Amino acid sequence: MGDVITKTQILAALQCPRRAWLALHDPAHATPLAPSRQALRDAGRNVGRLAHALFPGAVLVDEPDFAAARVHTAALLAESTVPAIFEAAIEHDGVTIRADILERLPGGAWGLREVKSGTRVRDVHLDDLAIQRHVLAGAGLTIASIELIQLDPDYEHAGGEVDWARLFARRDVTAAVETRVPEVVGRLEALPATLARVAAPAIEPSPHCSTPYRCEFWEYCTRDQPPDWILHLRYMPPDRWAELRAAGTTRLRDLASADGVPMVLWRARQALDSGREIVSADLATALADLGPPVDYLDFETISPAVPRYPGTRPYRRIPFQWSLHRRDDAGTHTHHEFLADGRDDPRRAFAETLLACTRDSARPILVYSDFESEVLAELALALPDLASDLEAVRVRLRDLLVIVRAHVYHPRFHGSFSLKMVAPALVPGFGYDDLAAIHDGADATVQFARIAADECSSEEETRLRAALRAYCARDTEALLRLHDALRALAV
Ligand code: SF4
Repeated sequence: MGDVITKTQILAALQCPRRAWLALHDPAHATPLAPSRQALRDAGRNVGRLAHALFPGAVLVDEPDFAAARVHTAALLAESTVPAIFEAAIEHDGVTIRADILERLPGGAWGLREVKSGTRVRDVHLDDLAIQRHVLAGAGLTIASIELIQLDPDYEHAGGEVDWARLFARRDVTAAVETRVPEVVGRLEALPATLARVAAPAIEPSPHCSTPYRCEFWEYCTRDQPPDWILHLRYMPPDRWAELRAAGTTRLRDLASADGVPMVLWRARQALDSGREIVSADLATALADLGPPVDYLDFETISPAVPRYPGTRPYRRIPFQWSLHRRDDAGTHTHHEFLADGRDDPRRAFAETLLACTRDSARPILVYSDFESEVLAELALALPDLASDLEAVRVRLRDLLVIVRAHVYHPRFHGSFSLKMVAPALVPGFGYDDLAAIHDGADATVQFARIAADECSSEEETRLRAALRAYCARDTEALLRLHDALRALAV
């Protein structure tokens, strides 16, 4: 077998041929995933191993070397008593795959089964299966049916052992995959020449770099773009970018007037010119009924793929921590918090402690995004006896993100309205850099999940709990300081 092409390379090339080339020839230019993001991705991949429980008697091809795995696979295919094969290694016409699951069907046919985390069918899943279907058929296997196996979002954990057969939903996607095979195979034909190029294909970064996944070469490919390159501003819709690009407008300084331009872009343009924040004349009105007195609230959640607590479902958000800074009429502030133990379902204790802390007044509660509102709505469904009290808290929430987006832009936002960009930009000296162990929500999720799963020593758990408290408190302090900064800008 000469040079071969892997399914991973093909999927990368379907997004962007340059990505496939860089992954093969210059992988060091990829931006490494943060450990917490890698842990979340690994948890998703672990779903594939859990689905093995659906195929009793199946045999795993566990040789990492492809040639050895291919020999083992051929032996298993020929052994009629083997009901299914995990990680079958197949090659056809220079393309190699490792199929998640091949299920032996009557009449010498096979079922191709692919396990994906998540709960919905995506085009990238169908492309993935179309590549596999092409290789398997080319290698002489009759593929009678193709299924995508995903977690069933309606499965509710009853407690005790997880019911694996009910946790996973098996969707027949045979027709949808067959439809995609010709296009995928057609695009495959150009790939060997692309990968054999001396230099990477010159493809300009654009919104395609985030679809279906954020490309790991984004920082590398955009390293020479000027600071006012419009795509540095996140959340740019692809069609809007295409219009701007067609008009020759790729930098903020290319914008000649506010006509037909999203306000956020025009404000960013003005901030670039002035070197300081741009504030709308309506900011004071937007802040008028937000206190003080006022509370500042932030939640942390986990979303386990496999439900951990009775009564929960796959990927359902489980809030485990809240932080609340309170500023009274006199301007003094206090801090209140809750952090669950994690060994049991934390939702009731989370809700009851939050209600005890907030039910004595009608003061507004400032949050950043609609995340807290969504979590409270979900809690109300899960805890019907507390629903009306939780709803009373929910209607007091006011979203500071909406106000910042609509009224303020600072050059140091660098196109992002995340709290971790906005608060340090508007509050000199404020930041997150001094925090140990937990720096963002992904860190908090991963480390709390480790605590809940008893994966930490008691010393590490003590250290992580302190870090979780410090991180969540920093977020509500950020809201408080940001609110101060906005009020100062509004006068
Ligand atoms: S960042 Fe964009 S242009 Fe660069 S390799 Fe990735 S997808 Fe292609």
